[in-house]
Amino acid sequence: MIELKNVSKWYGSFQVLTDCSVSITKGEVMVICGPSGSGKSTLIKTINALEPFQAGEIVVDGINLHDPKTDLPKLRARIGMVFQQFELFPHLSVTENLTLAQMKVLGRPIDEAKAHGLKYLDRVGLIAQKDKFPGQLSGGQQQRVAIARALSMDPIVMLFDEPTSALDPEMVGEVLDVMVGLANDGTTMCCVTHEMGFARKVSDQVIFMDQGQIIENCSKEEFFGESSKRSHRVQDFLSKIL
Ligand code: ADP
Ligand code: MG
Repeated sequence: MIELKNVSKWYGSFQVLTDCSVSITKGEVMVICGPSGSGKSTLIKTINALEPFQAGEIVVDGINLHDPKTDLPKLRARIGMVFQQFELFPHLSVTENLTLAQMKVLGRPIDEAKAHGLKYLDRVGLIAQKDKFPGQLSGGQQQRVAIARALSMDPIVMLFDEPTSALDPEMVGEVLDVMVGLANDGTTMCCVTHEMGFARKVSDQVIFMDQGQIIENCSKEEFFGESSKRSHRVQDFLSKIL
């Protein structure tokens, strides 16, 4: 579904990604962790071409991002992205937030967009909030709306960038529950998160990044097990966050 081969990226003379190679197959859940500034956000932004890269290759669903013929806006429309800050449109109701991109980007008629959006709103447990505005919802509820909005576009993969980091602790669980549900339903997901409980429950692959490099790429059994395969750097990181 997604393949990165030796991807490198520079901001000016600063190399932010060095030779990153990973692949995610359909239905797989990949968790990316690592210290702040290690390049996690940059890496997932290259996947939906929000950030250009200068070396290597990225193929998403058979489409090469480097190919000048690739219609990037069309590809982006098929990749769901959920950020740390929920980024809902504050002046639009929940229903309008859910339907806008479906109508503008996918050209769906309003009735179809509404039916589709509300189906996902129901799935994240917020159908009763459909006429509210984002400011009237808690952080956890806003993030669940943001997830429903991304799902409404029928994405081939969902990218999450620290979706629970800006939430009050009591709201982290409700968002993770939604994400676990998606994972169990076979959604292809790539999640930057330090929620190791989530990683332990549903991940197929755990990536550890440091200074723009993928230091570890292993199964959750290898990552969390007693295995001596885990590098000192990862042990040290886990001991700080667990
Ligand atoms: P993470 O998500 O792991 O915290 P980021 O991908 O956000 O890391 O950032 C990786 C590195 O790239 C950091 O050193 C950060 O300061 C730098 N960086 C991020 N965005 C830019 C930018 N637009 N211009 C220059 N440097 C950047
Ligand atoms: Mg980040």
